[in-house]
This record gives sequence, C-alpha cells and structure tokens, in this order.
Amino acid sequence: MNTSTDPILRGALLALSLLLLTTGCCTDPVNGDTYFCLNELSDSEEGELGQSYAPNFVAEFGGEYPDPELQSYLSEIVIDQMARKSHRPNLPWRFRILNTSQINAFALPGGQVFVTRGLLARLETEAQFAHLMGHELGHVSHKHSSRGQGRAILFGLLLGVVGELEGELSDSDFPIATTTLGIAGQLTLLRFSRQQELESDERGVDYAILAGFDPRRGADTFRLFLELKQQSGKGESMIDGLLSTHPLDSTRISGIEEYIEENYPGISSRGLVVSGSRWSGMLGRVRAAQEGYDEYDAAARLIGEVQQGNASVSSLDEAEARLRKGMKKLPGHAPFPLGLAFVELARDKKSAALRQLDSAVSLDPDLYGARVLRGKVQIDLGRARAALPDLEAAMRLFPANPQPHLYLGQASEALGDLAGAIRAYEATLERVSEGSDIHARASERLAVLRGASSATGAASNF
Ligand SMILES: [Zn+2]
Repeated sequence: MNTSTDPILRGALLALSLLLLTTGCCTDPVNGDTYFCLNELSDSEEGELGQSYAPNFVAEFGGEYPDPELQSYLSEIVIDQMARKSHRPNLPWRFRILNTSQINAFALPGGQVFVTRGLLARLETEAQFAHLMGHELGHVSHKHSSRGQGRAILFGLLLGVVGELEGELSDSDFPIATTTLGIAGQLTLLRFSRQQELESDERGVDYAILAGFDPRRGADTFRLFLELKQQSGKGESMIDGLLSTHPLDSTRISGIEEYIEENYPGISSRGLVVSGSRWSGMLGRVRAAQEGYDEYDAAARLIGEVQQGNASVSSLDEAEARLRKGMKKLPGHAPFPLGLAFVELARDKKSAALRQLDSAVSLDPDLYGARVLRGKVQIDLGRARAALPDLEAAMRLFPANPQPHLYLGQASEALGDLAGAIRAYEATLERVSEGSDIHARASERLAVLRGASSATGAASNF
C-alpha cells in the first residue's frame, strides 16, 4: 500500500465526486437557515475532508506540542464539554495544540480544532480559552466554510497544488525559520465574513456557558489581539496569520457584551467559572516553555540569516548557545536538537547533524522536520537505504509536501530503483507548482530517467 499518496488522493477523489453532483440547498445546523450551495456534505464526508487535510497543518505549524497532560486537559474542555454538546455533536471532533510561537487558533471543516502554543502562552483565564475555542467550534457548527467563496476554497485546498497560493519553496532546502509551503498562507483563504465572525463570537458565548465558564471573559481576547496588533505595527509578526483570518475591531467586544445581556440575563448569579483550580499550573507550564522557545525563535532567525547569506557564520555560535539554553529548560522537546542539526549543517558537519537528528527523532518520531531532514542527510552521507523509513514517515506526516518525494526519488536512483525514482518524481510534481526550484529539479531528473528507461526498455527484448 502506498500510504504516502492516500490522504491526498482520497480527499481529491471525494471532492471531485462531490463536485459532480447536482447543486442544491444547504442548511445551517445552528439556525436552520438555508442557502445555495453545490451539495451538502454529510457529517462523515466533511469529517473525512478535515481529517485528510489536518496532518498538513500540524506539520506546517511545528507539529504537536509535547505535553500530553495539557493536551488532554484542554481537549476535555474543547471536545467533551463543548463540541460534543454543540449543534454538531456527531462530527469526528479533534483538538490539538500546535508547537509554534505564532499566535493563532483555527478550525478546519469537519471538526479539526487547533490552538498554537504562542496563543496559549498569552491567555489569562480559562474562561477566555473556552470562549476562544467556542468561537472556532462556531465556524464549524455554522458550516461557514461551505458558503460562497469558502466552498470553492475548501475544494481548492483539497484539489489544488500546495504552494501555488503563497509563493514557492525557498531556494534553501530547509529554511528553518519560515514555513516551507503555502499551507499557512492558505489559512487566509479560510477567512470569514464579519457576519460570520459575529455569529461565531455568539457561539463562543453559548459553548463557554455549556462548559460552565464565564463568557464575559471572551472580550479579553479581543483586547489582547488589539494590543498585539498595535505591537505588530512595531515589528512583531507572530500575529500576522491570525489577523489575516480574523477581522478585528472593537465592535466585537460590545457585540459579545450585548449578546450576553440579551440572552443570558442575570449571568452573574450562575456560578460560572473564570479559571478552574488546575488552570494556572497548566498555563504556567506553557509560559515557562515559551521562554525556552523564545531562545529557539531567536536561534532560528540567526540560522535563517546565515542560510540566506545575510549574517556571518559566527552567528551560528550564538544560535547554538541559544538552542542549548532553551534545551536545558525543555530537555524533552525535539525542536531543540533539530535546531542544533541545522546549525551543524550550516557548518557543513553532516555527521554531527545526524547525531542531533537521531536525538530529535527519538524524542518525537512524528516531528516532520526531523524526519525529512534525517532522510536527506542519510542520502548525502551515501546511506540511501537508511533514508527510506524517514522519508516514508515524512510523507505520512505531511502528505501535501513535495520535499520527501523528491528525496525518495534521489534515494531510489542511488539504490538503482529507476521505476521507483520515476514514481517518486511524478509524485513530487503533483505537489508543487511549475516554476519553483523543486519542480525544476524533479522535472529534470524525470526527463533523464524516462529517456533511460525507454532506452533500457528497447534493449530488454534480447
Ligand atoms: Zn473566527
């Protein structure tokens, strides 16, 4: 079974078959509104679309944050206390913390809900978290993505070539500090209308109350975002992704307050919780971890500048020092040895890089960046066969990314498996737009190999 292409193909085939069906009417599961749409997805179809696309987002945003206790604590709130009591209890809901300092929260159609470490570290109260996540659940409950432009985009996301929308792969194989593909950029296409945002703010209130939290704290999140927006004018960019999907203005604060006043009069006597007893301990851990990741982010910027030729190689020493400092705080976090591997590669020390990658993979076998990079380093060290398990893992972890397919082509060539190399380069081209560096490299090898295989085909008659 070729597991590498399954999720993409499945999503694409499903989307295609749905496009071929007749157009009709869709119903908003929250308020019963009907509207024109191509075809209404069943919960299980929509769930499958979300599941097939979610791994790409996880991989693009740094993988899952390695704190299982926090993950299950927050998942209990988001999934058990809110999503399963929401207007769409039967979706295959799933909540995950993404290990990036970017400040964002989003939900994919089908019930895949995400919050970033960077945003968690900035929250004050548990009620604020509940409202924020309730808002994201609201977009899914209302099927906002299936309306108008969102509909075309949903299918575009699943059918389209990643990287087409937001530029190209960098010339550097592994830009450490920036996202490699346009997945993050595609989030901007999940942007919702003002009306939809207001509706989701209201669901945030409803769902926070379902879970027993005081929804009035939801307004704090907008104050936080407005503050971060002002800072972002002074060069902070971690919030750009969020601002591109969530139109912000102060009327959303008054909107929440008015909705609560009208629908939940006497709310102060309901005994709603602002923060439960475990919250401050849990969040304290994320904030402490964020300090370690501030070192990581600074190191990543330095390495990126060296990769681009904008900083001298001596900056790598500072990057290494910062990574080691962060690693001391967070010894179980795989991104730090992965960062050290980038440092060693920038120094052209491949064996030293490999040792760091071994340590990163043993800490987190599902960290895409460590898997694909170790595969590449193994190939460069002349061990193509040893690269195969890493490349397969990388394909499973980030199905839309062309990079592991390109390296599989190189490994297959090195192992003399020309048919396998051709398949791998073809799979590379399916995942990247024309004009990019990776497209050119795969096309070039494909032309050479097809020439070679037709020559051997002619000669194989004897
Ligand atoms: Zn929203």
